[in-house]
Amino acid sequence: MTAQELPGWTHLYSGKVRDLYVPEGMTSGDAPELLVVASDRVSAFDFVLSPGIPRKGELLTQLSNWWFAHLDVPNHLVSGGAARVPAEVAGRAAVVKPLEMFAIECVVRGYLTGSGWAEYQQSQSVTGIPLPAGLHNGDRLPEPIFTPAWKAPQGEHDENISFDRMIEIVGEEAALALRELSLTIYTDAAATAEAHGLIIADTKFEFGRDGESGEIVLADEVLTSDSSRYWDLATWSAGTTPEERMASFDKQIVRDWLAANWDKQGTPPELPADIVAQTASRYAELIARLTA
Ligand code: ATP
Ligand code: MG
Repeated sequence: MTAQELPGWTHLYSGKVRDLYVPEGMTSGDAPELLVVASDRVSAFDFVLSPGIPRKGELLTQLSNWWFAHLDVPNHLVSGGAARVPAEVAGRAAVVKPLEMFAIECVVRGYLTGSGWAEYQQSQSVTGIPLPAGLHNGDRLPEPIFTPAWKAPQGEHDENISFDRMIEIVGEEAALALRELSLTIYTDAAATAEAHGLIIADTKFEFGRDGESGEIVLADEVLTSDSSRYWDLATWSAGTTPEERMASFDKQIVRDWLAANWDKQGTPPELPADIVAQTASRYAELIARLTA
């Protein structure tokens, strides 16, 4: 995968979905800002799939920016940075402050599904947090829970960890602050989403520390359909089976297709055109509903 050349910027690193750049002539050590470009690439189970989802990069950037503006927490966007986004990637890039990232995915779950549901079936708990018996896939939890994951080095799979393990990795003070911030942001955002007829079943935040001020700052993407599970509130309320309840606005469509059509060995198969089109239209519908 070769990243696009952009005037005034030097490519630094490509994640599964986003490409990071530093101002030309600078390095990751001295750059005062970074350009984060969201591609149309889609990943599931930590594999980048083919083809991409048309306009995904743009929609995810819009969603993140909308949430950054609505949330009352310090974020990594550089004010006035939009003016420095190159025309080639306008609408799907942001100029951000480089942070010392915590190697933790700060996951909050308001509902039980995905890897949380898998773990619950084994242990009636998620990352060590005990839960009531008798819950079903897609049920609302008595209260939102913080279930961190360790961000594995590139090529490895992220791993759910206990809060005690998180303390070992980032220290107690940071762990407590990150948990508190994550739960507060989720609770705020879930209420906003509900007012638009949407459930945020779970989501993942990434935070970093500002090297100058020491402040903990919300970074990466926030509350996008890549980092979150969004469901339709009316459908969830009326449904009786998990399938009926979890009508998703996110890449669950891709995950489900892949899980049914691939044994996770070797290269993943090409996504069929109807799955790509369905995902693209659900992403577009989500942002239309949220920002309406
Ligand atoms: P990985 O993080 O393991 O590369 P990824 O597939 O999640 O996997 P992307 O989301 O595609 O990666 O790329 C975005 C990268 O930029 C992530 O590594 C994220 O942690 C990092 N990042 C986001 N915001 C900032 C920031 N303000 N400063 C430094 N790094 C950031
Ligand atoms: Mg990421």
